[in-house]
Amino acid sequence: MFKHTTEAALVLVIEDQKIFSQMLTTLLQQRLGCKVLKAETLAAARELLQQHGTQIQAAVCDLHLPDASGSCIIEAVQAFGIPAIAMTGKFSEELRQELMRHGVVDYVLKDSISSFDYVQSLINRLLRNRSVKALIVDDSVSARQILQAHLRQQGIEAMLAGDGEEALSMLRSHPDISLVLTDHEMPRMSGVALTAEIRKFRKKEQLAVIGVSGNGNSKLSSQFLKHGANDFITKPFSYEELLCRVSQNLDMLDLIQSNRQAAISDFLTGLYNRRYFFEQGAYAFRQTISQMQHLHLAVIDIDHFKRINDVCGHEYGDLALRQTAKHLKEFFQKDLVGRFGGEEFVVLFCASDSQNVARRLEDFRQRQQDVPLRMPDGSEHPVQVSVGCVRREKESDLQQMIHEADTLLYQAKQTGRNRIISRF
Ligand code: GH3
Ligand code: MG
Ligand code: MG
Ligand code: MG
Repeated sequence: MFKHTTEAALVLVIEDQKIFSQMLTTLLQQRLGCKVLKAETLAAARELLQQHGTQIQAAVCDLHLPDASGSCIIEAVQAFGIPAIAMTGKFSEELRQELMRHGVVDYVLKDSISSFDYVQSLINRLLRNRSVKALIVDDSVSARQILQAHLRQQGIEAMLAGDGEEALSMLRSHPDISLVLTDHEMPRMSGVALTAEIRKFRKKEQLAVIGVSGNGNSKLSSQFLKHGANDFITKPFSYEELLCRVSQNLDMLDLIQSNRQAAISDFLTGLYNRRYFFEQGAYAFRQTISQMQHLHLAVIDIDHFKRINDVCGHEYGDLALRQTAKHLKEFFQKDLVGRFGGEEFVVLFCASDSQNVARRLEDFRQRQQDVPLRMPDGSEHPVQVSVGCVRREKESDLQQMIHEADTLLYQAKQTGRNRIISRF
């Protein structure tokens, strides 16, 4: 599972049974890359809360601690604005009601190992939800507010719209909305009609639409789904059902997104892979059809890379590749950068100023020269590059440009390496 933020999230685990606490900590650290604070008593938890307070992003609270039991643990955590997940050995409807009144994210019965997996998936969702934007569409003010409060309980901030037209204009001005909960019976435009409109400009894998309705008509759910909704929920629904449906739909969007990312990038360096480079390169050619001379292409190859592998070891060779990729991303942020294979990279520039391209390539080459691979024993190994760069001639296509740049790269290798040969 990939981490959402670069900085590790801080999670507080309040649990007096060491085995449970340890299992959960291991899961959170290993699978989510979280940092975990552990407390075995309410007193210890209060101390950690005082110390770390708002830095804590979620808390898992056992309801039976040596010095406290019940919802006072939840209250202590929530006093710091931290979302709380309750864990309990026993469950009753009365307890559920109490926890719901307190607005916990969810409650989990500690009855099997899978409970810990569930807590881990909840925390994962909760951390990701911070960057989810939702839209609630309902003509009833109170219905909107209930849904908004439920989503807030899951760490999701939602905007509100009173009808379909308003919803459509909000979606157009907020392209980052990824979840819509919509009522069906509304004046002017029904929820089903709204869903169909949304699908004209936002795909199912970019934006999840969940239809919500109290209408007892069983055909309504299929109507929603046929018109492009991802899911449907019937009123009255429990908070738990809403939580599960929302989480499942958002997990699905994340999965599609991460699969797509994996399909277009190179695993080692995170740069675009060869296939995607060709796809996007062809697209750039079509886009710049009237001004093709503005395309420039550079092929970059690390000098004596085999030596790095031989002398330092393959894993340090990999490190040199990642270091080079990092520099490429830094110097060519707005250009199309791909790893072509091995220690060869390619950059496509949509730029009119050849001198600017040449300057940036030279700055990159210099950076490679200035930053050698540093080994743990203090030794340093150069990660220099040779580059061939061309400006597009009339008629030449992407393959031809690559071939021409490759020929210049070969000349750079033949004439001493660590240099750029360009033909503008
Ligand atoms: P030149 O200066 O002429 O480019 O010489 P070179 O040693 O850089 O080029 P050569 O093509 O002889 O060697 C490239 C090496 O890159 C061979 C291959 O084992 C290694 N290589 C390819 N892919 C990877 C990788 O993903 N990781 C590591 N560590 N090495 C790789
Ligand atoms: Mg306990
Ligand atoms: Mg090489
Ligand atoms: Mg090579």
